[in-house]
Amino acid sequence: MSISNFRADVRRPAARPIAILAPTPTACAIAQQLQAGLAEAVVWTKASSESESAELERVRTYTGSLAAVVQQVWQEAEALVFVLATGAVVRLIAPYLADKSTDPAVVVVDEGAKFAISLSGGHGAGGDRLTREVAALLEATPVISSASEVHQLPALDTLGKSFGWQRGAGDWLGVASAAVRAAAGAGAIAVRQTCGWTMWQQQLPDRHPLVWEVSELSDEIPIRATLWISDRRPPADLPQPYACWHPRTLWLGVGCERGTAAATIERAIADRLAELGLARAAVAGLASIALKADEAGLLAVARQYQWPLRWFEAAELARATVPNPSPVVERAVGTPSVAEAAALLAAESDRLVAPKQVLRVPDAGACTVAIARAECEYSPRLGQLRLVGIGPGSLDCLTPAARQAIVRADAVVGYQLYLDLVSPLLRPQQIVCASPITQEVQRADGAIALARRGLSVAVLSSGDCGIYGMAGLVLERLAQTGWDGRSPQVEVVPGITALQAAAARVGAPLMHDFCAISLSDLLTPWPVIERRLEAAAAADFVVALYNPRSQTRTRGIATARDIFLRHRSPATPVAIVRAAYRSDESIQITTLTDFDVAVVDMLSTVLIGNSNTFVCEGYAITPRGYLRAYSSMTSPLTHPDADRCS
Ligand code: SAH
Repeated sequence: MSISNFRADVRRPAARPIAILAPTPTACAIAQQLQAGLAEAVVWTKASSESESAELERVRTYTGSLAAVVQQVWQEAEALVFVLATGAVVRLIAPYLADKSTDPAVVVVDEGAKFAISLSGGHGAGGDRLTREVAALLEATPVISSASEVHQLPALDTLGKSFGWQRGAGDWLGVASAAVRAAAGAGAIAVRQTCGWTMWQQQLPDRHPLVWEVSELSDEIPIRATLWISDRRPPADLPQPYACWHPRTLWLGVGCERGTAAATIERAIADRLAELGLARAAVAGLASIALKADEAGLLAVARQYQWPLRWFEAAELARATVPNPSPVVERAVGTPSVAEAAALLAAESDRLVAPKQVLRVPDAGACTVAIARAECEYSPRLGQLRLVGIGPGSLDCLTPAARQAIVRADAVVGYQLYLDLVSPLLRPQQIVCASPITQEVQRADGAIALARRGLSVAVLSSGDCGIYGMAGLVLERLAQTGWDGRSPQVEVVPGITALQAAAARVGAPLMHDFCAISLSDLLTPWPVIERRLEAAAAADFVVALYNPRSQTRTRGIATARDIFLRHRSPATPVAIVRAAYRSDESIQITTLTDFDVAVVDMLSTVLIGNSNTFVCEGYAITPRGYLRAYSSMTSPLTHPDADRCS
């Protein structure tokens, strides 16, 4: 199969920038902090007489009133972030507020950067999500007052966005207000989903007003509204209010005579969809034979609806099993089926929902359309995998970039303990996939599958994701499965690894060359580990031992101690840091000879000093050599505090 106009090439409007409006120098400093973390953000600030800010990159200055800037950016920007008092913002935007389906999102940050307020466009325009991102970047408190947030409801009007679903007809306002009343205990919202991803249903809060089987309800729970999720149009008798989401499951196989007019192709498609009660918004894309790749009418229709096109060679099409093969077509193009075969191949399924049908229009060509339904809906979004290190435990040790990646993600994947550690950052409607600690491969595959559906996925590891974490495994799995390096996009977001956290808690033991060795022999044969221990000990590296001792793996750490005792002084400092930066943290500094391996467990990192490491007032210090280089104080023994240090 060859693919054209698919994902990356599909004509989509370019992402519109975020405008950050920050009139004062204080506000401008906050705005620039935000700009560093937000893609495509432009800062606007008032020109000072010295015009210093005019020289800053991506900062635009204005001289007149801010109102004129607001008027300009309201049309251009995806979202407006004001660093200004809320009252002033309300007055500035009031003249332009028109419709929540078209208005940009508006977020307000106070000049103290304490709060980020989602002022308008919270759902459709993504203001609530942006508010969380802004708050995460500034370590401010997000203030979100939309009903769905308050009641921890899924936001029904944005529900399908991350899966690439298209919003269809419906009374969205009526459904939203019914949902709020239902959340308060007055009735329920019926969900009728015939296709598309259902995983969202498992992510709902414990109490929610949605019901799937209307029949299971007792008469006392009236249905207030219906959410119709289907590639079909809603039935004519569906009671109001209702609103429709259309997962894009329908692949249209199209064959046409050379030179067929776009209008003919469009009508053939419209007729076929209408006859079968299928929704146009549920169309995933068009498929045809490769020799039609330059067919102007076909390309025009695809462009008009922003449908991707998939092309198949005659030989590929000929292999598909179709209900209506044609010897005439076979003689002409070398495959007995174009429309039906292309639809089935594009949908990667055997579910033909509409066998081929021809529309012939005098002087405007002839077009054959068949429709197949894919198991998995098409999403035009480019999936993203962010492999995120969350640091050792406390949220203080999370980098702003990691925080951002978590807040931004449609789905967060990780071991339950790590999800618990970042739980204050998770938002309702985010897909959260917890998996047991031993199921790393399944976790990686699950995350890749989500990203391949077009979702933005954060895969969490403690510490750094690329140090005995998930990053390598995810990349290995991608490499094994024909990844093109672009889809999904991958970003590795670094974190503070355990050896840094442990070192910081005990002083500065890593000031000279060091190495990390994991004592886990689940994935590495023990003789290899032992060889590395020997080498590190002999080469006088400071060593950090990860995975030092589990309930069943108890001997390794004792062997490690014995190896080091053969190469280093019995007085060499050893630090055992357990659960660093977590509420149950414990720290012990001892020596190689007194090192009681029984106190070590899987939550510990063990640091073994080199031949120069010493301890002073509870701080382990490995001299870098400054004092030896620049003064007469050359060794711990001549250190001014040597009498108090060991
Ligand atoms: N990716 C992680 C390491 C995972 S391997 C990182 O970069 O830190 C798991 C091992 O890391 C544990 O057995 C322990 O040795 C160490 N570790 C992880 N978190 C720790 C913490 N908070 N305190 C001490 N050691 C920790």
